[in-house]
Amino acid sequence: MTIPASASAQTLPATSPVEPDRQAPGFYRYKVGDLMITAVNDGVGRRPIDGFIRNAEIDDVRGALDAAFLPRDSITIPFTTLVIDRGGKLTLIDAGNGDSGAPTSGLWMANFRAAGFDPAAVETIVISHFHGDHINGLRLKDGTAVFPSAEVLVPEAEWAFWMDDAKMAAAPDGMKGAFQNVRRVFGPIAGEVKQFKADSEVVPNVTAVAAYGHTPGHTAFAVTAGEGRLMVMSDTTNHPALFVRNPEWQAIFDMDGDMARETRKRLLDMAASEKMQVAFYHAPFPATGHIARDGDSFAFVPVAWSPII
Ligand SMILES: [Zn+2]
Repeated sequence: MTIPASASAQTLPATSPVEPDRQAPGFYRYKVGDLMITAVNDGVGRRPIDGFIRNAEIDDVRGALDAAFLPRDSITIPFTTLVIDRGGKLTLIDAGNGDSGAPTSGLWMANFRAAGFDPAAVETIVISHFHGDHINGLRLKDGTAVFPSAEVLVPEAEWAFWMDDAKMAAAPDGMKGAFQNVRRVFGPIAGEVKQFKADSEVVPNVTAVAAYGHTPGHTAFAVTAGEGRLMVMSDTTNHPALFVRNPEWQAIFDMDGDMARETRKRLLDMAASEKMQVAFYHAPFPATGHIARDGDSFAFVPVAWSPII
């Protein structure tokens, strides 16, 4: 007897679209209420652990890495944006590194397309803050706008800081490049960018939550739909193995370290108390889970991978 071609996976072509030295495309879908969320990975960046945290002893930092079974000398920092699909209307939260990041990053567009999305169909892009790993995906190095039809929404306090020429002039030399990069990305669309206030609804189902400290206008987002609630923590913490475990620790990227620490403790405490699902930009993929209390500290409990959405 013959088996119809459609009846058996054995009859599918033997070739796989995934190369043998690559992972499957880095996207992961989950629901918040009836909203479809797709986490889209943009690879990773690596940096030496020495000097990464400004207020902890290196032995304590290595201890935290040991406890998480991570390498002791460098930290691998993942990048994960979110796509929110509201009945075919696509909103991105942050845009990845584009072609401006480390060679181990820049996977975003391939992963986004593998998830079935088209950059021309993105309606709105909501930005958490203006560090390059969150905004460079908006514009390639050659100036090309990556999302031609999208409206770009940014935190008012973030725009006020980075677009202020006096602040750029007063900034230390090491920070001037970040100011120039903000102008490179947003300059050509400065008249069209929409600014939003903290605690306002940015797009339906998405409310801005002031999470200042990491940058002057750094913003988290509460995504709510029906019973579903997701707190998009943005860079409230960098890698959870370090900063969820040790919320007092300040990464060198935290521009106002004390304010960033207070924000971190407040949002982690809220997420733990309310048992909200959380998403982090810099957690291991798919960068979503929950926050558990652990004595005076917290632990990040990643979601279990599920084939059922
Ligand atoms: Zn970041």
